[in-house]
Amino acid sequence: MSTKTIPYKIYLEEKEMPKAWYNLRADMKNKPAPLLNPETKKPMTAQDLSAVFCDELTQQELDDTTPFIDIPDEIRNFYKMYRPSPLVRAYCLEKKLDTPAKIYYKFEGNNTSGSHKLNSAIAQAYYAKKQGLKGVTTETGAGQWGTALSMACSYFDLDCKVYMVKVSYEQKPFRREVMRTYGASVVPSPSTTTKIGRKILEDHPGTTGSLGCAISEAVEVATETDGYRYVLGSVLNQVMLHQSVIGLETKIALDKYDIHPDIIIGCAGGGSNLGGLIAPFMGEKIKGKTDYRIIAVEPASCPSFTRGKYAYDFCDTGMICPLAKMYTLGSGFIPSANHAGGLRFHGMSSTLSQLYDDKLMEAVSVEQTEVFDAAQKFARIEGILPAPESSHAIKVAIDEALKCKETGEEKTIVFGLTGTGYFDLFAYEKFNNGEMSDDIPTDEQIAASLANLPQV
Ligand SMILES: *Cc1c(COP(=O)(O)O)cnc(C)c1O
Repeated sequence: MSTKTIPYKIYLEEKEMPKAWYNLRADMKNKPAPLLNPETKKPMTAQDLSAVFCDELTQQELDDTTPFIDIPDEIRNFYKMYRPSPLVRAYCLEKKLDTPAKIYYKFEGNNTSGSHKLNSAIAQAYYAKKQGLKGVTTETGAGQWGTALSMACSYFDLDCKVYMVKVSYEQKPFRREVMRTYGASVVPSPSTTTKIGRKILEDHPGTTGSLGCAISEAVEVATETDGYRYVLGSVLNQVMLHQSVIGLETKIALDKYDIHPDIIIGCAGGGSNLGGLIAPFMGEKIKGKTDYRIIAVEPASCPSFTRGKYAYDFCDTGMICPLAKMYTLGSGFIPSANHAGGLRFHGMSSTLSQLYDDKLMEAVSVEQTEVFDAAQKFARIEGILPAPESSHAIKVAIDEALKCKETGEEKTIVFGLTGTGYFDLFAYEKFNNGEMSDDIPTDEQIAASLANLPQV
């Protein structure tokens, strides 16, 4: 039990910021399965990967033995503009819920891009610059990743081409303009600027696009333009590595006040924020030093962990990316319109998938209206307008705190508040008007999608 008074916000000093990222894979007994080459079905080699990714990021992607990887000074200097991020004790929420539980959240929304994605964007831009590249390409759906990447690229003076799913391009003009302000070019996908885009437009005139299609366009441009590589904002091992800064800072802050978390909760889209948040705690758990309950929260409309299958699958709809072994709903699975755009991916990080399969963590799925209900409660009492994605974690943190109220247990709960919801006000409007629905796929729909998994 801590005898120190715990402040509302635990801010670390700059010098306490981690100097190295933590690579959880190095301490895993069962390593995540390797990416496979979609043609040969053999593990992807560094050479295979380096056509698409920068060399140093390729190394990080394949490294499952080095536990700590130094954060270069250039990246730490950028981190200093918005990190260390605060770990906040949710005193007001606790009081409102009348729970004996102690609730903390790690807030990653304190930067212009509004989410944790900047932690990896700046690292990926740095390695691209270091390799002497001219620029990078990527896709963005809801726009958080594209925004973070455009900020990172402008800092290192790199060109940034973003393929933005057409429906978001039209419905989210504000994100688009943030990206353009930071110098990125933003192209609605499918577009006439690529072969694959032209083909898709021919086959499906009037389509409003999809993430899978935007990935295919971005990869085509990266591999066919001299001095360009492709970058991705989630799912990959390298992204989870960079996001470990979230968990390392959280651990340093908790240790400083002798706080031991019982439950750690995060939303899971591709798994990068959750993987980053839990990394040092999971490392201790694997080594048998101490135990934590770790909970991934996903939308009921896109339930990869809770209703998917652990199998090799494509990461994109266009089936050009490597195969990853992961909990998946099938690469052709199109989740219903859900307002947490960042959680609409059919698969999951292969590292988290292995940990879940080894029963080292749990997963729950929650419905969108109850998520917004929790978001509203949180906004009113803690002051922050949370992103819909982050609100999945809020919902389960509140549920766990209410269980403590019943049992009288004084558990310590930590959750990741990944971002702010200022660009999600159409979703809030739907909720406020009582027009939000919960769309949950049927068993038949999921089975039909899983029937098309590749044979490996
Ligand atoms: C992208 C995003 C997520 C989900 O991505 P992960 O890779 O699962 O972390 C969660 N919250 C916010 C705010 C996001 O932008």
